Amino acid sequence: MYNESSVVVFSGGQDSTTCLFWAKREFKDVFSLSFRYGQKHAKEVELARAIAGKAGVPFTAMDLPLIGTLGHNALTDASMPMDEQIPDGEMCPNTFVPGRNLFFLSVAAVWARERGIRHIVTGVSQTDYSGYPDCRDSFIKSLNVTLNLAMDYQFVLHTPLMWLDKAQTWALADELGVLDLVRRDTLTCYNGIPGDGCGHCPACKLRREGLERYLAACLAFE
Ligand code: ZN
Repeated sequence: MYNESSVVVFSGGQDSTTCLFWAKREFKDVFSLSFRYGQKHAKEVELARAIAGKAGVPFTAMDLPLIGTLGHNALTDASMPMDEQIPDGEMCPNTFVPGRNLFFLSVAAVWARERGIRHIVTGVSQTDYSGYPDCRDSFIKSLNVTLNLAMDYQFVLHTPLMWLDKAQTWALADELGVLDLVRRDTLTCYNGIPGDGCGHCPACKLRREGLERYLAACLAFE
């Protein structure tokens, strides 16, 4: 337990919601920050606000619309069908929003520094990283150094899910006592359907397969 405050970069999805409750366990005070970046499913910000309310965590939503217009991707461009997997010859699927975590974490760092907060929590994971380069540990460590140099401040970027797969992330939610809340209230689906989602987009598949593996493991131990 840190006797300090933290801010969670919070989208209202499975991963960042698990991180929100992890942060509540680990830090004296927790704040949450969401971004409207031109995502097709802007209601995720309102779902995030509702979850933060249930968690008793102060919530701030900020507008960063340029992210959705700078790059061309299927999460912000409604005319673009989303890749179900990484296409041959490509580095990542077209659901990758270039620069998203770079911008989010940089803005969160400025926001945190203004309030005397050093600890920033993000739900990125290298294990099930879906081909997104800005979810990898090397990027986070590099950005941590850059932010500290940029603002002459000792930020600590926390990534509690970095080495967990989706089943282990469900296990962590269960350990934190919020498995049902995460299952019911969060929005992970690329088609904008909360809870168990549409069932067939890549985000739903990853989430469901992880949950099935975790629940099967629980049954095996009963
Ligand atoms: Zn879906």
